[in-house]
Amino acid sequence: MKSFTYEKANSPAAAAAAAAGSSNARFIAGGTNLLDLMKLEIETPSHLIDVNGLAFDKIEPTQEGGLRIGALVRNTALAADERIRRDYGLLSRALLSGASGQLRNKATTAGNLLQRTRCPYFYDTNQPCNKRTPGSGCAAIGGVTRQHAVLGSSESCIATHPSDMAIAMRALDATVETVRPDGTTRAIPIADLHRLPGETPHIETTLSAGELITSVTLPKPVGGTHIYRKVRDRASYAFALVSVGAIVQRDGTGRVAVGGVAHKPWRVEAAEAEMPRGAKAVATRLLDGARPTRDNSFKLALVERTLAAVLSEAKG
Ligand SMILES: Cc1cc2nc3c(=O)[nH]c(=O)nc-3n(C[C@H](O)[C@H](O)[C@H](O)COP(=O)(O)OP(=O)(O)OC[C@H]3O[C@@H](n4cnc5c(N)ncnc54)[C@H](O)[C@@H]3O)c2cc1C
Ligand code: SF4
Repeated sequence: MKSFTYEKANSPAAAAAAAAGSSNARFIAGGTNLLDLMKLEIETPSHLIDVNGLAFDKIEPTQEGGLRIGALVRNTALAADERIRRDYGLLSRALLSGASGQLRNKATTAGNLLQRTRCPYFYDTNQPCNKRTPGSGCAAIGGVTRQHAVLGSSESCIATHPSDMAIAMRALDATVETVRPDGTTRAIPIADLHRLPGETPHIETTLSAGELITSVTLPKPVGGTHIYRKVRDRASYAFALVSVGAIVQRDGTGRVAVGGVAHKPWRVEAAEAEMPRGAKAVATRLLDGARPTRDNSFKLALVERTLAAVLSEAKG
């Protein structure tokens, strides 16, 4: 591991100022992703800003009838919160499908959203990877691509986003709240947080350098049946090949976001209009423009079948 300096921030302003004062700083929260990447020298920050001392560990009601989740709320606490379980069951289920109990005890809301891809070539520093080293090429293209994207990929990168929680947040229309190094704040709809790879796969979000996530807000609950179904190679401790997060209302209308298929949580509002007509109709719209590789065309059928299972479960 490369050497680095470390400081513990005790206010958002101090964290932002520390970020502004160093060209290669990273915030560290649970550290469950960042430390692994540092040990492999995939991430080589010169300065770590530990944000664990900030008062971002609460879940509070908003004036609009929703909830504000502090950036440091641990995945375990979020999944277990009574209000989340009752009104945003999709989020609780998505969280509990991820990682392991120990990891969820450390992992934070912000860190989970910003975790990096699990493309095996990204982790293998002997292989070219445009995300790790811009301009070096993409070893996945032409390689083994069973886990990779079928939607929104580019000639530069075909990686997927690994977060289960982000799929639920997308279906729930969450908003990410931030503070920038100059002290200004902003609210980013979750749909606009993660980017498609294009020619710059190393730029994964629309956050600017040193921008700190302070909280994630959920709008007022929308009711309905909440389902998160994750298809993976093992029953636990594995990332999704395909996942479907859905909210289904009594009349068959609802929302659907899909994971394991793209560089960001995949949601197509026009596809949701097809929900009363069934999984095939939804999948046709949702997968419009898909570009599977020779190894992962099975994901197209898997999305449709997982959707069918979800819609059938919602009907009871
Ligand atoms: C073995 C294993 C299995 C896993 N399985 C799953 C799984 O099945 N599903 C799943 O979804 N996830 C899984 N994960 C990933 C895990 O959920 C993430 O590692 C975790 O959520 C990251 O949160 P963290 O707080 O530890 O982030 P950190 O590692 O601390 O940080 C991650 C990134 O977020 C940035 N960051 C952190 N906080 C902030 C902030 N407030 N503002 C701005 N930037 C910030 C950091 O700088 C860093 O770039 C797995 C991880 C492991 C190691
Ligand atoms: S798919 Fe993306 S992350 Fe994987 S090797 Fe190619 S550029 Fe790197």
